[in-house]
Amino acid sequence: MDSKSVRSTRGRGKVYSSILDTIGDTPSVRINTLAPEHVELYVKVESFNPGGSVKDRLAIGIIEDAERSGALLPGQTVIEATSGNTGVGLAMVCAAKGYPFVATMPTSVSIERRKLMRFYGANVILTPKAEKATGCYHKAVELADANGWFLAQQFETPANATIHEHTTAREIIADFSAKRLDYWVTGYGTGGTVAGVARGLRAARPDTKILLSEPHSAQLLASGEPQVRNDAGAPVSSHSAFTPHMIQGWTPDFIPQVLQEAIDEHFYDQLVPVDAEDGMQMARELARKEGILTGISGGSTFAVAMQTAADAAPGTVILCMLPDTGERYLSSPLFADVEAQMNATELKLSRSTPGFQLSAEE
Ligand code: PMP
Repeated sequence: MDSKSVRSTRGRGKVYSSILDTIGDTPSVRINTLAPEHVELYVKVESFNPGGSVKDRLAIGIIEDAERSGALLPGQTVIEATSGNTGVGLAMVCAAKGYPFVATMPTSVSIERRKLMRFYGANVILTPKAEKATGCYHKAVELADANGWFLAQQFETPANATIHEHTTAREIIADFSAKRLDYWVTGYGTGGTVAGVARGLRAARPDTKILLSEPHSAQLLASGEPQVRNDAGAPVSSHSAFTPHMIQGWTPDFIPQVLQEAIDEHFYDQLVPVDAEDGMQMARELARKEGILTGISGGSTFAVAMQTAADAAPGTVILCMLPDTGERYLSSPLFADVEAQMNATELKLSRSTPGFQLSAEE
């Protein structure tokens, strides 16, 4: 953008028949201040999706796949075990398409996410934090069986990776068609993003290295220990390498069936562990230095991208996923340092001119 001329926009040249048609086609944006000068670092900003996260893609993917196969009937209730963003995405898609939606969710997940889902008209059934993701999942199965509801099964359904192959991967390939792309960096929750995008990148951009990150305290893939699953592909127990971590939406306490493809097909070139504290710091830096608002998983992915950038050869081009927005974490440790009241600097500024000062009690 030429800074001398006045900014203008052109419109999209079309109107949309549904909010659901605005899912995807998120922008890849250059990092200008934080990135070292010898590399080009880009972030794919998934908060541009209408429900605010990458999981809108999965939600529309699962629902439309089930409509096509007949697994989901008109007006049937949809249920899913979700740490939040999938629930928000499904709540949005179900609202727009007229399906009732029920989410099961551990109490450890942020209040904002529960309230958001309820705002979209969903019912949220909380499960004990101690039972982790597996307990939450088993509750969803129980409720689906008891009521004849459609269980979305984000951790097992092939529709998960498929939608990323058809949308996220295609967007990256198109947006970088005339450019180098040396590294693509992501984390995993279900593994849908990494499996689907890797299918596309391995075929169209075989030279692009795929870096996959997991929390330091939950290095399930790095442990090399396989996951035991039942015939439906669901985990029968927690993985032994799991301990709780603060990167909401990442690494559940099992290796999902959807992620297994990425392991079997060697879809990642390197595993990089990351600390949630470093991730949160990077999310703060992205907001302050770049004006880009992302959550803990985005900050964590970006921390890995920055590490890679520091060691990379001149001219290296890196793309990093930012799965959601920071606004979803107001009650979480990400915002713990942010005061609601005026701090000392702000008070001093307020008192530096005579008018409109708060009294001591306000
Ligand atoms: N970050 C956040 C905040 C998420 O909610 C998710 C999805 N659980 C991911 C990252 C990972 O995406 P995926 O499930 O496609 O691996």
